[in-house]
Amino acid sequence: MKEVAYVCPKCGKSDLQAEQPDEYEVWLKCPSCDFFMGMSKDEWHRIENSPNVNHKIKKLADGYS
Ligand SMILES: [Zn+2]
Repeated sequence: MKEVAYVCPKCGKSDLQAEQPDEYEVWLKCPSCDFFMGMSKDEWHRIENSPNVNHKIKKLADGYS
């Protein structure tokens, strides 16, 4: 997995980290606030490879909470 920090949809800092707790899941966690979002690895790969990753994360987070 790429070591890239994404923009947190909650606090807006570029601190969002993608973790892989197991082979099927990806967790997005922000160390600056309490934002957390889990998704399947397939779903994450679609987001990660899209041209506007941070926008996709934001949209998904809006529907998630
Ligand atoms: Zn945050």
